[in-house]
Amino acid sequence: MTTTEADGEAVTRTSGGRPAAAGSLSPSRAGDFMTCPLLYRFRVIDKIPERPSPAAARGTLVHAVLERLYDLPTGGRTVPAALELLGPQWERLLAAEPGLAALFEDGEAGRAERDGWLDEARQMVERYFTLEDPTRLEPAERELFVETVLESGLRLRGYIDRVDVAPSGDVRIVDYKTGRAPRADFEARALFQMKFYALVLWRSQGRVPRLLQLMYLGNGEILRYEPDEADLRATERKVEALWQAIRRAMDTGEWRPRTSRLCDWCDHKERCPEFGGTLPPLPSSPVDRPSPADLETAARERDDL
Ligand code: SF4
Repeated sequence: MTTTEADGEAVTRTSGGRPAAAGSLSPSRAGDFMTCPLLYRFRVIDKIPERPSPAAARGTLVHAVLERLYDLPTGGRTVPAALELLGPQWERLLAAEPGLAALFEDGEAGRAERDGWLDEARQMVERYFTLEDPTRLEPAERELFVETVLESGLRLRGYIDRVDVAPSGDVRIVDYKTGRAPRADFEARALFQMKFYALVLWRSQGRVPRLLQLMYLGNGEILRYEPDEADLRATERKVEALWQAIRRAMDTGEWRPRTSRLCDWCDHKERCPEFGGTLPPLPSSPVDRPSPADLETAARERDDL
């Protein structure tokens, strides 16, 4: 390994000349920090578990169904076949995460709630078929883990729902959302995640993806964007600036709360000073406190809603 200076920061390089990772960031966690630095702290530094939510579980279930749908032979990718996957995929998720069973209470009310929840998942799967025809598609990748290490040493990582490659070699990145399409003034935020993935693919494979496609299964809309190299360079600068802000917060211990309408869904409201809560002490021992390089390495990053 060798160490050089870049932008005032020491950069350690591997024997192959590539920068060694000095921290890591995914689009979900970058989004958390942009939403509220204190939320990032609760999730990444304190690692406080969050209650499973029906909306998040439904997102995971619908993603699993759409991923498995493409295991079927082309002609078999029909609405009934997709709906048949819902039950087994839910069982599989329950086996992997038994805590999900607590989403719905025992008894009639709990069963009715679960039926309504499942019905919404069913509608989302059906709506998917109104947006594209899976019998005419052969994805190159599904649930693709991607990562790259930027020149500064920051590792970017994430999972892409689907990657399509045209015969011309053009790449399309596809992400399913089980929520509704955002209003026009929130589109940039939605596209940040997609540009982040495009940046990782560009830096790791040397080719700018042709199209970024967000499919909103909550209301049946598609948001498309054609990125260019200038976009991805701007995204890289933004991600680096975010990481510097995270590092500053780590050094100073100041994780500022930023209130927004998302606070209504925040699992940490009870311990948030903005709502009369008391902050838990920061993990202080070297054992408890993650190093920048450890951050986020364990978590499967999902942004399904
Ligand atoms: S309640 Fe709001 S301000 Fe407080 S941690 Fe959650 S998102 Fe941040």
